[in-house]
Order: sequence, then C-alpha cells, then structure tokens
Amino acid sequence: MNVSYKRVYLKSGKEESLKRFHPWIFSGAIAYAEGEPEEGEVVDVYTSKKEFIACGHFQIGSIAVRVLSFAQETVDHAFWVRKLESARALRVALDLIGNPQTDTYRLVHGEGDNLPGLIIDIYGSTAVMQAHSAGMHVCRLEIADALIQVMGDTVRNIYYKSETTLPFKADLLAKENGFIKGGSTDNVAMENGLRFHVDWLKGQKTGFFVDQRENRHLLERYASGRNVLNMFCYTGGFSFYAMRGGAKLVHSVDSSAKAIDLTNENVKLNFPDDPRHQAYAEDAFKFLDRMGDQYDLIILDPPAFAKHRDALRNALRGYTKLNAKAFEKIRPGGILFTFSCSQVVTKENFRNAVFTAAAQAGRSVRILHQLTQPGDHPVNIYHPEGEYLKGLVLYVE
Ligand code: SAH
Repeated sequence: MNVSYKRVYLKSGKEESLKRFHPWIFSGAIAYAEGEPEEGEVVDVYTSKKEFIACGHFQIGSIAVRVLSFAQETVDHAFWVRKLESARALRVALDLIGNPQTDTYRLVHGEGDNLPGLIIDIYGSTAVMQAHSAGMHVCRLEIADALIQVMGDTVRNIYYKSETTLPFKADLLAKENGFIKGGSTDNVAMENGLRFHVDWLKGQKTGFFVDQRENRHLLERYASGRNVLNMFCYTGGFSFYAMRGGAKLVHSVDSSAKAIDLTNENVKLNFPDDPRHQAYAEDAFKFLDRMGDQYDLIILDPPAFAKHRDALRNALRGYTKLNAKAFEKIRPGGILFTFSCSQVVTKENFRNAVFTAAAQAGRSVRILHQLTQPGDHPVNIYHPEGEYLKGLVLYVE
C-alpha cells in the first residue's frame, strides 16, 4: 500500500518536461497545492487533467519540486535502499568499489543518480553527505540508515556537511555539520595509489575534488621531464600525479594559505623530502607575471567563475584573461590542462573563451584531449544541466 502524499497540480501543458523525465518542476508551472505542503515534504504531482505524473520533494523557491520518482511510490526505507543500491551498482561497474588503488569516489551525484539534491562522497570508510535541498535534509537520517545497509562493512562513519549548501531561508532544524553515524579522525584517502588528507570538517565541497581523478591520471602521462605549474592547486591533487609521472619540478599555487598547508602536508605523505616540489600562497595572475616563463606543463583549474547565468559574460572574460596569460607564458612545446567547472558555461562557451585567448597570445595551439567529469559524476540524459566539468588539453607550439 502506498502512502498518500499531499497533491500538487500543474498548470495545463506544464507536464511536457516531466514526460521527458526532466527532474525539476519550477514554481511557475504549479497551479495550486492541496493542504499547504511544508518545505522538504514529499508531494505527489498531478497534471491539470488530474493524472499522476511524479512524486518529489517540495521546496519554496524557483525549483518547487525535485522529482524522486515518476512512479507512485512510498518514500520509505526500502525506497532509499533501492536508490542507493542502484547508485552502488554503477560504481561497481566503474570498478570503484573494493579497488585497492582508489577508495575515494562519488557514490551519489544528485540528478545524475536520480536523487536530486543529494551528494555522497566516499573517503575510505567515511561517507560525506551533502543536502542541497530541504527534502534531502529532512530525510538525512533515513538516508544514513539505508547507506549503512547498502554499503555493508565498507562505510562506518557518515559526516553530514550541509551548513553551506542548504537554502538559507528554509526554516530547518539541525542544519549544522557533524557525524550522524560513527565518528573518525582517520582522514587519509587514496586515489590511484596516491594518498590525500581529506578535510571534510572544514574543506571546500565535501573536502576534496574527486571529479578530477581521471584528468589527474592523464596528466601523469605527460609530466615526464617537464617543469609543472599547478595553478589553483587546493589540496595539490594534480601536483602528486605530476611528481609520480617524473616531472623535473612542480610548483603548486593557491591564493589560500590553508590550501597551501594542505598541499604541503600531502606532499609529505607521498613524497617526503622531495626537493622537486614548492608551494606558493599567491594570486594566480601575480604569480604568472612573476614566475610564469619557466613552465612547459601548466594546469589551470580555477573555481567556478560563474555561479549564475547573469555572471556568464564576465566569467567568459575571466577564462579568456587567465588562459591568455598562460598562453603568453608557457614555453614552446608546452602542454596546457585548462578547466572550467562553472555549470552555466557550456563546452562551446569555454572552448570559445580559450580560442580567443590563444588568438590574443598569437600562439599555435592544438587540442589533444577534451575532458569532462568521470563516470561517478554521471549525467542524467534527461538533465543535461548536470554536465558541468569541461577541460581541454592543449599543445602549444
Ligand atoms: N585543482 C584543485 C581544485 C581547485 S579549487 C583540485 O584538483 O583539487 C579552486 C582553488 O582556487 C581554491 O583552492 C581557491 O583557494 C583557489 N583560488 C581562488 N582564486 C584564486 C586566485 N586568484 N589565485 C590563486 N588561487 C585562487
């Protein structure tokens, strides 16, 4: 027997995107709601012809409902177990579970795993869970129970980190960060045999950027004998791969002193006392002006320049300016790994910004690889907005 939820009725014709399985319902599509659902409550969505079309989490805001299912289901323990099992099965297919070289990966990637509003990253035996919607926040303890069941012995601790990701207006209890299962201070995780301290307590996102795993691995293949500059290094991810790949020297740069401390700690973990590495807490542009001439492998992985559509034009200018500086400075025969993680910047937008930069610097540039996010950050084919990471590997003559 299905539980019956409060009903939300759509305006006439507003079911079209749902018939194509798009998981968001905007507030403008809603005619009325019965019984005043609260933020985070599960609602059943009906068309104007009073036919059931989806169920999802209700929220006050531009996205009013995030779809959990296109079938009439009860959102209970068994539901979360089914969803998490499906997410886990994909990571098994990607050889990310029980892999002796890599115990760090994304288990749930929001819409990409048909769980809009929920992110779960795994770092060894600790899962870091992040809610981006009121509904996922309300369900956090149920999800945590299901997660422990689905992951068996492999996950013993769950850290909940939603302080900065929840809508700040929502009147929600217990938004603060903390362990909701277990508790662990062992914070070293492994990616392709390299070890990293993960700062899930205070770090950015869930503590580490798991989405660059495969791109870092690719970089390793190009590093031999090169002078490497890892710009916007954060925890130093790309730097250790470059070192293992046989780089002559590796310089890591980040404007945050805390990021530089993390990077130095991680160097110690993997390559203690290796004189090839140096880290600098400095602004990217200033550093390129001062030191930029000596490198023949440069990584540019800046923070999202555009968080919203309104900021798109400025963001594209920012990408052009940054890449032009790198094109000006990089040595002949150099290789540039350049990225954008802004979701509103399309692949074409980004390529165009980099193209403009190359032309400004007057360099001959060829594209070697076009990169994106790895399979544990899957894109739901009905939700193309989920594709956010773009990268180009360029050979600069
Ligand atoms: N490449 C990293 C992730 C980068 S996150 C990885 O693989 O994990 C972006 C980083 O850019 C943050 O650590 C932030 O502190 C840094 N940053 C932001 N503005 C900067 C600037 N103007 N110059 C240098 N670093 C900057």
